[in-house]
Amino acid sequence: MKLHILGCGDASGSGGRNHSGYLVEAVDRLFLLDCGPTTLPAMKRAGFDSRRLDAVFISHLHGDHYGGLPFFFMDFLCDHPREKPLHVAGPPGIEERARGLFQLMYGDLLEPRELPATEFHVLEPDRQTIIQDIQLFPFRVPHQVRDISLGLKVAYQGKTILFSGDSSWTDQFVMHARAADLFLCECSFFERDVPNHMSYRKLQQNLARLECKSIVLTHMGEEMLARKDEVKVRLAEDGMVVDI
Ligand SMILES: [Zn+2]
Ligand SMILES: [Zn+2]
Repeated sequence: MKLHILGCGDASGSGGRNHSGYLVEAVDRLFLLDCGPTTLPAMKRAGFDSRRLDAVFISHLHGDHYGGLPFFFMDFLCDHPREKPLHVAGPPGIEERARGLFQLMYGDLLEPRELPATEFHVLEPDRQTIIQDIQLFPFRVPHQVRDISLGLKVAYQGKTILFSGDSSWTDQFVMHARAADLFLCECSFFERDVPNHMSYRKLQQNLARLECKSIVLTHMGEEMLARKDEVKVRLAEDGMVVDI
C-alpha cells in the first residue's frame, strides 16, 4: 500500500503547501483521506485518473479538509463521468455540507444542481464501519467545539493507518497507534500551545508512548516550518510517497 501526500499544508497554505489530501493506493482500491481545495489538481499531477477513486473519508468539515469535493463533482459531471458512485464518508452533516457547498459554488439560483452519483456515509465516533471493504474506526478528537472532528483509523488488507485529522494531543492516539503501520499526525505548531492543534513539543513528550511502526507529521504552519530542522520525526512534503 502507498500513501501519496497530495497536500500537507494548513488552511493558510503555509510554505506554499497544498491543503489536506492524502491518497491511499492499494492493489484494488484508491481512496482519499481528506479532500482540500487543491486535492484534485494534486491527484492529477501525481498521475491518477480521478475516476479510479473509490471513496473519500473526511476527518472534519473545515474547508481545507473537505472544500475540494465540489471540484471532483464537477470533474465527474463534465469531463470524466464515472461508472460507479463515489463513496463519501465524514462526520455528521457531511452530506448537507457537501451538497450545500456544491450548490453554492456551481448551483443555479433557480434550480439546484444535481450531484454525480454519490453515496454518503455518516461516521459516528467510536462506531466501526466498513466502506468498500475498507475498515474505518472514527473517534472524536479535540479540534472543533460544537461540530464533531474525527481522527480516523483506517485498515485495509492487513495495513493500518492512523490519521489524526486536525487535533490537539489526546491520549486516544496512544491506544489507536498500537500496531498501526503509520501514524499521520497533524503538527501545526512547534512550540505554541493551542487547545485545538498539535505542537511538536507536546508530541515529543508523548513519542515514547506511541507504539506505531512509523510517524509522519503534516498540516504544518509557519512557526513549525521555520523550525523544521530541529524536528526529529519525518515530515510530510507535497508529492512524497510513503510505503506502508
Ligand atoms: Zn486544517
Ligand atoms: Zn480544522
